[in-house]
Amino acid sequence: MIFTRFNKRRYLTIFAHVSIMPEFIALNKWFPSAKQRPFLISGPCGAESREQVFTTASLLKEKGVNMFRAGIWKPRTRPGSFEGMGETALQWLQDLRVELDIPVTVEVASPAHIELALKYNIDVLWLGARTTVNPFLVQEMATALKGVSVPVMIKNPVNPDLPLWMGAIERIAKAGVEKIAAIHRGFSAYENSTYRNKPNWEIPIELRRLMPGIPLICDPSHICGNTFMQRYIAQFALDLQYDGLMIESHYKPSEALSDRAQQLTPDMLGELMQSLVVRNPTTNNAIALSRLEDMRDQIDELDDQIVTLLAERMRIARLIGEYKFHHNMAVLQPERWQEIISTRTGNAVSQKLTEEFILNLYTIIHKESIYQQTQQMEAEKQSDNLEKESNN
Ligand code: PEP
Ligand code: MN
Repeated sequence: MIFTRFNKRRYLTIFAHVSIMPEFIALNKWFPSAKQRPFLISGPCGAESREQVFTTASLLKEKGVNMFRAGIWKPRTRPGSFEGMGETALQWLQDLRVELDIPVTVEVASPAHIELALKYNIDVLWLGARTTVNPFLVQEMATALKGVSVPVMIKNPVNPDLPLWMGAIERIAKAGVEKIAAIHRGFSAYENSTYRNKPNWEIPIELRRLMPGIPLICDPSHICGNTFMQRYIAQFALDLQYDGLMIESHYKPSEALSDRAQQLTPDMLGELMQSLVVRNPTTNNAIALSRLEDMRDQIDELDDQIVTLLAERMRIARLIGEYKFHHNMAVLQPERWQEIISTRTGNAVSQKLTEEFILNLYTIIHKESIYQQTQQMEAEKQSDNLEKESNN
């Protein structure tokens, strides 16, 4: 078959066999002293010197940061760049967590890293995006975590693959780790984008649906790759009811040895946090709730109509398939596709819909139409063949 089914079928069935659905422990229960939402994790991309981590951490503590982060082993795309200070920096962090009374977290990427981090009493570990992509490595690390009670945060894999992210969470949960959180740091894309890593919000939203209660932390720094868009991403995450934020900051960002463009100063972080609006999951206002119900009813009704209309559209696509088969015409007619795109986007933009949305929507509608047409043509061909055979 030329057209394989759109991923959705795989998507819907793949979790039927999920072997373990952990009970997640809410983030505010990890550190009972940190009551506020969002739980705020901040610190430099990499630990560079004792002075840098101590100065940055004490300034961040004044801004209400709940946990200090710093990379000790930095996964770098190309050799020769700053690869982290390793064990030397673990000693700084061990001193810092005691002297400043703040929990610390580092990235670990191998069983050896885990062993060292635990030796230096690191409070929380995280798996980076380049580790989550590799099930062999995640399994080795899960095995190393057996019998250890350290909390673990798991970043999404570099590529937009939800089952891979969930698989890593499951492996760590199966090892008996009870405190697990997911960090959403965006997904890489080859084409140019305003983001360093595209947020693809639908993926963490789906993660939440499939793993209810999982503490979700947004990392606007690696999503944006710059300092000026992070406020917007952080607000968006809070509006989706994320539990925490992980934001990179450095006391002198312009001198940072890695991820210079995206690190905030502690003052900038303070301003960003001040500007955020933390909204409630719901309201006690009965009138507002009932008005909301009304609007949701309208949406339900419209969605019903959309599905009915799509089914009707596909029924006609199948008729077209039949027609094209009998007239020996090709399925894809590029001019027709071009015409659909331009008329539909033109129409939509005048009704407050974005061109990008309509383009994406019609790309999947068109893909499904083509699939339905080819299926129909295949069915016509088979019934023709049967007829010929019975006539012979
Ligand atoms: C980091 O947090 O500095 C880091 C390397 O992140 P990621 O794994 O998301 O690229
Ligand atoms: Mn970084």
